[in-house]
Amino acid sequence: MTFDQLSAKVRHGGRLDPPEALELYLHAPTPLLGELADEVRARKHPHGVVTYIIDRNVNYTNVCVARCNFCAFYRPVGSAEGYVLGFEEIFRKIDETIALGGGQLLLQGGHNPDLPIDWYEDLFRAVKQKYPRFKLHALSPPEVIHLSRTSRLSVPQVLERLIAAGLDSVPGGGAEILVDRVRKLLNCYTKASADEWLDVMRHAHRAGLRTTATMMYGTVETLEERLQHLFRLRALQDEMYGFTAFITWSYQPEHTELGGSEATGIDYLRTLAIARLVLDNFDNLQASWVTQGGKVGQLSLAFGANDMGSVMIEENVVRAAGASYCMDEVEIVRNIEDAGFVPKRRNMHYEILGDPIFREREVPRMLQLSTAREAGDHSVPGELRLYPARSRSAKIERSRDGRTG
Ligand code: SF4
Repeated sequence: MTFDQLSAKVRHGGRLDPPEALELYLHAPTPLLGELADEVRARKHPHGVVTYIIDRNVNYTNVCVARCNFCAFYRPVGSAEGYVLGFEEIFRKIDETIALGGGQLLLQGGHNPDLPIDWYEDLFRAVKQKYPRFKLHALSPPEVIHLSRTSRLSVPQVLERLIAAGLDSVPGGGAEILVDRVRKLLNCYTKASADEWLDVMRHAHRAGLRTTATMMYGTVETLEERLQHLFRLRALQDEMYGFTAFITWSYQPEHTELGGSEATGIDYLRTLAIARLVLDNFDNLQASWVTQGGKVGQLSLAFGANDMGSVMIEENVVRAAGASYCMDEVEIVRNIEDAGFVPKRRNMHYEILGDPIFREREVPRMLQLSTAREAGDHSVPGELRLYPARSRSAKIERSRDGRTG
């Protein structure tokens, strides 16, 4: 098919097949890709509204046994730089989030063998008891699989227990590229194969949870493999209709074992645009300004994105790999309005909550990202001693007196 024929197909709401998507992704001029993606975005969101959410990205532990080679965030078991946040620290972060108008934590962390499923259940219950209306968007599929392995429970059983404790929705992290050849090269095949990642999402959707889907590109995959990833997500969305949104970002190479260089801004915009065209059954695509910066983030709104993601209060993972962009609500709203759209606050279900909160009441400006912990804070939360450790180093640590904090 020619570009004209492919464009006509998209404009008439036709569904791209893999060879058609590949032709566009490989050869279509970037302005044409953007134009088509923008038309699809406008068809799905005809009122010119661009949404965002106020929530906080909290990484409860950086200790991880998975050791993905693209990750600069994790620390091995026993590392002096490893941490687990205490319940009180997490409550403080929730208090700060609420003060900024937020109502949700995005809670993800490493695969820490010394945190049993009871720790997660107790944390979720404690949060819900203290903040009954606060939402927990928590534990990506590989973390659920990790819990299933350490607790010897099936994935549906783990989800059932977490939901009973207060889990509200599941973030789409850990998808990287859903092609096992790539996953093996990135050393993330054992944490979750492509089928296993999709299967956790299928079970979560069956259990009534909504989830998001992600793609981290720019490591060792081919452009065809990026498209395979998108087509696998589209197939699961056809089956379950459980994904609320798709988010893609580029690999951040600094301080990683894999190394290499970062994908360009044009690559990002083309990838976002082709995702909008392939994922015709996804309502929402987020702009990834956290990895691309505010300016490319704003341009994303002309390449298929209809959402600016989260007001960033705290970030640890991408920052560890060299990217550190900060936008509070005032900045996000300025970027949306300058691009010609109407900004609206939303929740995880993409229900509109209202206009910018800073126009309704005074909220503190956030001009710098918080971190999980202050540098040099190696305190061990007291409640950890209530849970059995598996690793030798954690057993020693938890039996020691006087190191709690
Ligand atoms: S990406 Fe996640 S699972 Fe992989 S090493 Fe980093 S923290 Fe662990």
